Formats: sequence, structure tokens, C-alpha cells
Amino acid sequence: MKYKCNNCGFIHFGEMPDGYYCPLCHANFSYFELVSEEEKKYNRKTVDINNPSINRVYERCINCGVCTRTCENIVGIKCDGVCIKCGQCIMTCPTGALTPKYDYKKVMEYIADPSYTVIALTSPAVRVGIGDAFGYKPGEFLEGKMVSALKKIGFDYVFDTTFGADLTSMEEAFELKDRLEKKSLMFSSCCPSWVNYVSIYHPELIPNLSTCKSPIGMEASIIREFYLKEDGLDSKKTIIVAVTPCTSKKYEIINTDCDLVITTSELSHMIRELNIDFKSLDESDFDTVNGSSSGTIYGASSGVTLSVIRVLFYYLTGRDLTSDEISIKNKGYYTEIKFKVNKEIITCAAVSTIPNLEKLLTIKDEFNFIEVMNCAGGCINGGGQILMPQNERDKIKNARSKSLFKKDIKPYIKYAYKNPIIKDLYEDYLNNPGSKLAHKILHIKHKDLSNIVNKKED
Ligand code: SF4
Ligand code: SF4
Repeated sequence: MKYKCNNCGFIHFGEMPDGYYCPLCHANFSYFELVSEEEKKYNRKTVDINNPSINRVYERCINCGVCTRTCENIVGIKCDGVCIKCGQCIMTCPTGALTPKYDYKKVMEYIADPSYTVIALTSPAVRVGIGDAFGYKPGEFLEGKMVSALKKIGFDYVFDTTFGADLTSMEEAFELKDRLEKKSLMFSSCCPSWVNYVSIYHPELIPNLSTCKSPIGMEASIIREFYLKEDGLDSKKTIIVAVTPCTSKKYEIINTDCDLVITTSELSHMIRELNIDFKSLDESDFDTVNGSSSGTIYGASSGVTLSVIRVLFYYLTGRDLTSDEISIKNKGYYTEIKFKVNKEIITCAAVSTIPNLEKLLTIKDEFNFIEVMNCAGGCINGGGQILMPQNERDKIKNARSKSLFKKDIKPYIKYAYKNPIIKDLYEDYLNNPGSKLAHKILHIKHKDLSNIVNKKED
């Protein structure tokens, strides 16, 4: 008998003993499948030197081909030379030859220059992932310590991207309301690897993609457009740095109002290189710009859908959607989320990973809204998180997801439209969700990039 590890491609000969772990990547028993045909030979995946998200240290690479197997079999990209920047290959490379493209040294240079104001925006999944670098148990919620660490590193302001997530819910729900009237399916747009994938492989779906910028994109634009002026700060001398679990954000922010992206793993390097004792840090609060718990759950699969439908329901009925009015069902490869408005049933799906998405596309007409995340379980499992043992990955990502959802109960603000900073923003500047000004600042036009794959496959 011959069994193949679907995580790294290791071939096991003979019977599979119970509780077996892959000797190469430590994936557990369930990752193996019985194979009979001769295996194709895998070489290292091509990593373009200009790839803004990932980097290969050639001296460490043993050409084992695990990155190619990960990319083909787990991420679902069959074409060498096409990269959606997700960083999942970093997570499975057995020698550490693949890393995020490091930008934290540039951040340190700006921080050291007193003529610059440096602002950090922190994504939800960082606070439940950073503890892995400092010996905490998986999923520990370390928001206060993370803020303290960023201040100690020297950031002038630390804002929460949950504010950008609330704003995304306000705009995306407004867009969805319009699409419901037109009976047009809408896909979420906050995962840059998914947006990249659809632009390359499914340009026919671009009209169904929400035009909303991602939470980081929205928050950075609002800071530049309004808040810097309020505080008398010079935009040219202000650097906005997103701290994220995601390598793909390094690609997304090119030519936007956000200047740099550092991953959770880069943040852990900064903390170590500056000899900051993370465990002994006190807890600090964010500086003013902050979000609701609806923004916090953006970090895990289904979180975007729940946040957006709460706002949509409010737009349609004028009241809060309560948990017992929502039906949530695990359908195996996706989560079905349904609720009723008057007599109409709104059906949504939350799906993660491209292979699952491809399956879902065969029944896409059953849904009004589909949330897509490239990484299994959402941003909590992003390619910029701290490296984790392969056989523990499911356990770790579930702990992180649970930890974020735990913040979505009382006494936290659960609805984006109740966030006082969001209310003020619309009152003082944007008028209404979907207004002309909101569209100008918070929405984008997606590009058809299908020529990339056509060229590579010629
Ligand atoms: S997984 Fe790592 S070591 Fe193996 S081929 Fe890819 S970069 Fe090289
Ligand atoms: S970053 Fe993602 S898409 Fe790019 S090579 Fe790695 S696994 Fe493949």
C-alpha cells in the first residue's frame, strides 16, 4: 500500500498505523490518502523576486517541493508562476526557506525618524496569534499587551482595524441591500488573496464582487482624508502601518493610503529584537479609533457575514437582529447562515479555501451573499501568523476563532451602526452609507487580471 500526505506530499509505504504523524510535516493521519499511481515529481514553486508578500532564502531551500504541493493541493493554484500571495507555503516549508517579505526594518527606520508620525492599525487575528511567539496557550486574547508592545516599539498612535471593519459592514450591507433588490449575488471583498484569485481565474464574477475596500483600506483612507487634518498632522509626514496575520495585504496596499504592512511574525521579531519582555507588559487601550465586536469577529470565517447581515437587517427593519433569529448550519465545506426579513429568507454562505469555494460555485445561485476567505478558517490562519506545528493547526485555529467570538457577547458593542465613532464619521463627513463621498473614498473598481494566467499557460 502507498499513502500520500496531502499536506506535504510525503509517501508512506505499507499499512498506516493509528495515530500516525507525517515524519516530514507532522500532519496527522487524516491528511493521508491512498494512492496507487506513480506520483508526479514536484520541484520548488517559482517565487518571483518582485513578489511583495513572500521571499525565499535559497541557502535554506532543499527543493523538496512542499511549497508547490501546498500551493496546488491546499491553496488550489495549479499554475506555477501564479501566486495569490496567501503565504500558506510559508506555513508548510520544512526548512524555513520561505518567509514573509520583511518590511519591519523600514517601519523601524520611520519610527526612529522624529519627523514622521507612525500609526499602527491592528487586525483582529493578531491579538489571538501573537501569544504563540511568547509561550501563551493557543488563542489567548492579548489585545492589551499587543497595544503596549506597539507603543513600546515607538508607534505614535495605535488604532484598531475593527473600526475599518465596522465601516466595511456599513458600506457592504448598503451595497447588499441594493443587490437584493436587483436579485444579484454579492461576494465579500476583504480577503486580498480571494480578490486576486477571482480577478485571475474568474473574471466573469467580478461584477458580483463587493466594491468595498477592505477594512485596512477603508480605515487608512479615512485617517488620511479626515483625521490627520483634525489633529493638524501632515499626511506626507505620516506613515500608516497595518499589522496583520496576512502576507497578501502587502500586495493589496500597493498604491493605497496605507504605506506598509507587517505580519504577526514580523511584530514578534520587533518585540524580540528590541528586548521587550512581552509577558511583563501591562495592558494598554487603543488610541481613540476603535471598533465594535462585529469588527473583531472579522478575523474568523463567518465573522464578516454575521457583521454585515446585522447591519443589513437594521437597514431593512430599523431594529437589531438577535442571535435567535439567525440559523447557522455547518454544511461540511461551508457554513450556511440564514435569516428572515418580513417574509423573505436571506441565505448566505461563508466558505474558506479555494477548493471549497470552487465546489460552492456549482450551487452559488442558492445564495444572496457569499463570504470567501482564502486561508482555512479565515485570517486567524493567515500566512503571516507565527509558524505552528502542522498537526496542531486545526486545534490552534479553532482556539483563535473561539477567542475572537467570545468577544461578541455582552457587554461589548455588537452592532457596527451603534459604534459612536462610526456614527460621528457619517454625521460629520460621509452623510449616509453609500453616499457619493463614501463611494469616492471607500470603494474601488476591481481589475480583470486573467491575462496573467493565460500568459503563463501559453
Ligand atoms: S518547501 Fe521550502 S525547502 Fe521545500 S522547495 Fe519549497 S522553499 Fe524549498
Ligand atoms: S503565497 Fe500562496 S499562492 Fe503564492 S506560492 Fe505560496 S501558497 Fe501559492
